[in-house]
Parts: sequence; structure tokens; C-alpha cells
Amino acid sequence: MKISELFKEKDKQVFSFEVFPPKKDSGIETIYNTLEELKDLKPDFISVTYGAGGREAGNSKTCEIATIIKDKYNITPVAHLTCVNSSVDEVDAELNSLKEHGIENILALRGDIAKDIPRKTDFRYASELVEYIKNHGDFHVSGACYPEVHADANSMVEDILNLKKKVDAGATHLISQLFFDNSKFYDFRDKARIAGINVPIEAGIMPVINKSNIERMVTMCGASLTPKFVKVLQKYGDSPEALRDAGIAYAVDQIIDLVSNGVDGIHLYTMNNPYVARKIYESVKNLF
Ligand code: FAD
Repeated sequence: MKISELFKEKDKQVFSFEVFPPKKDSGIETIYNTLEELKDLKPDFISVTYGAGGREAGNSKTCEIATIIKDKYNITPVAHLTCVNSSVDEVDAELNSLKEHGIENILALRGDIAKDIPRKTDFRYASELVEYIKNHGDFHVSGACYPEVHADANSMVEDILNLKKKVDAGATHLISQLFFDNSKFYDFRDKARIAGINVPIEAGIMPVINKSNIERMVTMCGASLTPKFVKVLQKYGDSPEALRDAGIAYAVDQIIDLVSNGVDGIHLYTMNNPYVARKIYESVKNLF
């Protein structure tokens, strides 16, 4: 099913997951345990990430995993696709492979610019990839958005105007970067609507389950911590199980508030951790 149809069909909010391919030295089968557990949670779709910084162009397991999600688990998959270090030919090869495997949904991304890889210039922005995909197949295309402004943008206004270009190019669904402060998401959503961005915007939620997680999220994703969250860290930072439980509770609290405030959907970054996904699902399943 195409994601755009899912939003039209559902009169309630969408609940979806993200997984990532196993590391290069692990076999594809290591994802089975994760998917086996996630399937019972009945997500509306599962998205599969694509490399990092374009490092995996032409060498990604994304299509293979998306196909397993569709064929073995009967769940709608969304394949991520980055373009920052891909040529048109490499993008064509990935699109052909997705078409052949019957994958209908793509999350089109620029990707992070890696300092150590010479940059290809066929695609400069995700909006160019969105337009290309729309002209080269019958795909639904989603895009990413940033409640706390993308790191390369000079301001929220500039970032939202660029986001509008992505939507005008054909992205009919957006998934947000993770955030811990719901008020930042509401502020962003209001501004996006004023700018004429009227497609569904799912909120990306990443439960914090360990200390290294947090450092990564704050430095890589620019997510700001709330005073409430900092208190949790101060109290439970050195106690892994307590921090995991507090991280799950914090995510649940965020989701309840978002759903009550009419969010279009919740996209849970599962980090391939079915235990955490299940705990969260069990606490919020009746909201959806
Ligand atoms: P863009 O939409 O191109 O935006 C990047 C920057 O360029 C922004 O600052 C924007 O304001 C600016 N910009 C956009 N269009 C224009 C324009 N026309 N003119 C001038 N400036 C412009 N990375 C991976 O490597 N693999 C993944 O699987 C992956 N999945 C992700 C999933 C989600 C939900 C999110 C939020 C991010 C994901 N990322 C992934 C990270 C993403 O690739 C990076 O955040 C990247 O730096 C930006 O990608 P984008 O598609 O948002 O880029």
C-alpha cells in the first residue's frame, strides 16, 4: 500500500517504525529477530534506513530488507534512499531494484555530507531526488523535516521554505527528526502549515535507552534536551536499567501528548530494539 493512501484511509493517527540494516559483517538474518518481534505490534509501516552519508550507494541491504518486510511479514515497507554521494545511474539502479521487488514507498533524503568522500553533484538536495523519483516511476515519496531546524540551514524560515520546495517537488508525507521537547514540534508544525505545507507530518520519537545514545543524538541531530530530561539523566545516567526505563517512560509521555494534540502519526526509531518498541507499544496501543 502507498503511504499516501494509508493516510487517506485511516481516520486515526498512524503508528510506524524505523529499522536499520545489520552492519556489513553481520548476516541479513540478524534483522529477522527484530522483525519477528515487531510484526506483532502491527505498525502501519516499517521504514528501512539507507547507509550513512551515501557510503552505501549501490551496496545497500535496504531493498532486500524492505522486501522481507513486505513478503514475509505482510507489512508495508518504506525504503530510505539518499542521494548526496550517488550518481544518476546509481539512483536509477536502486529505483529499478525497488520497482522489481514491488516496493512502492521511498523516503527520499539528501544524506549527510561526509568530509572524507568526494561529493558527487548529480543531486544537491533531497527535493531534486524527490522530483527525479516522481518522474521515474509510480512511487509514493516521503521526505524528512526538522522541528529544531536542519544543521545546514541559517534559520527556521529558510529551512521551512526549502521544505516547501521538497513538498512541491512531490513529497506527500514528512517524517520529523527526533526531538525531546514537544513544544518545538508544535511550533514547527504551525509554521509549516502557515507556509502551505499541508501533507501529513509524522513525529519522529527516539527513546533514549543509554548514555551514548544521548550524546549521539544531541551532537548529530541537534535535538535540545528539556530540563525534565536533564534531571532524568542526572539521576539515572549511571544506572543503565533505570535510564532505559526512564527513557521509555519519557517517550511514552511525549507520544501521549502528541497524539492528544492531533499529530498525524508517530514514527518510532526502534534502533532494532524490539524490547523497547514493545514496551512503548503496550503503553500507547489504545491511543491509535
Ligand atoms: P534536504 O531536504 O536536502 O535539506 C538539507 C539542507 O539543505 C537543509 O538545511 C535545507 O534547508 C537545505 N536545502 C534544501 N533544499 C534547498 C534548496 N533548494 N536550496 C538551498 N538549500 C536547500 N541519513 C542517511 O544517510 N540514511 C538514512 O536512511 C536517513 N534517514 C533519515 C530519516 C529521517 C526521518 C531523518 C529526519 C533523517 C534521516 N537521515 C538519513 C539523515 C539525513 O540524510 C540528514 O539529516 C541530511 O543532512 C539531510 O537530509 P534531507 O533529506 O533532510 O536534506
